[in-house]
Amino acid sequence: MRLLVVEDDPDLNRQIFTALTDAGYVVDRAFDGEEGYYLGDSEPYDAVVLDIGLPKMDGISVLEQWRRSGRTMPVLILTARDRWSDKVQGFDAGADDYVAKPFHMEEVLARLRALLRRVAGQATNEFNCGPVRLDARAGRVTVDGNPVKLTSHEYRLLAYLMHQQGKVVSRTELVEHIYDQDFDRDSNTIEVFIGRLRKKLGVDVIQTVRGLGYILQPPQAA
Ligand code: CA
Repeated sequence: MRLLVVEDDPDLNRQIFTALTDAGYVVDRAFDGEEGYYLGDSEPYDAVVLDIGLPKMDGISVLEQWRRSGRTMPVLILTARDRWSDKVQGFDAGADDYVAKPFHMEEVLARLRALLRRVAGQATNEFNCGPVRLDARAGRVTVDGNPVKLTSHEYRLLAYLMHQQGKVVSRTELVEHIYDQDFDRDSNTIEVFIGRLRKKLGVDVIQTVRGLGYILQPPQAA
C-alpha cells in the first residue's frame, strides 16, 4: 500500500515516514500544502496523512480541492490539540479520521489500518484467501498456519492484492501502489515478484488474467 504524508515539521514528517515505512508501507512525503496537493492529485495513494497547519496552502484547502476534483482516498488529518474547529472543518472538507497532536505513532498506524481495511470492505486486520492469511497489524503471512517469510516488496504486493481481493489488478496499478515516486518503475519486475510470491506461497491463489493483470482468489475446488 502506498501512502502520502503531508507535514511541514521536518522532524515529525520523518518520524511518521519512518514508522510507516517500518510498518511495510511505501511512503511519499510533502512538506507544504502545494506540494502535497499536487502529489495527492496526481498519484494514486491508498491513504494520506495530512497536517492541517501547512505553509503555502492549508490542509483544509488541500483536502477540499482533492475532494472537488474527485479524489476519494481515505485521509487522516493531524490537528492541533485544542482546536476542535479543525476537526469539524476537516470532516466537513472530506477527512475520514483525525489524530490530535501530540499523538502516539501507534495510534496513527492503527487508524490508517482501519481506514485501509474499510476501503477493502474488511472488518478486521486479518485478510484471508483460501489457506493464505495476512495479518496487517503484525505484518505476517501464513499458509495453512505456517509462517511464510516474504521480502518487503513481496509483502507489499500480497498486501495490495489482499486489499483488492476478487478484483483484477493491472501491472501498472501494482507498480503505482507498491513503489514510491522516486523508484525506477519497470512493470516487468512485477512479473518477477509475482513469480517469487507464488513460489513462496506454494498455493495457487494469484491468477494471471491474460492482457489485464492479476487476480487474487481462493484456489478452485478440484
Ligand atoms: Ca504544521
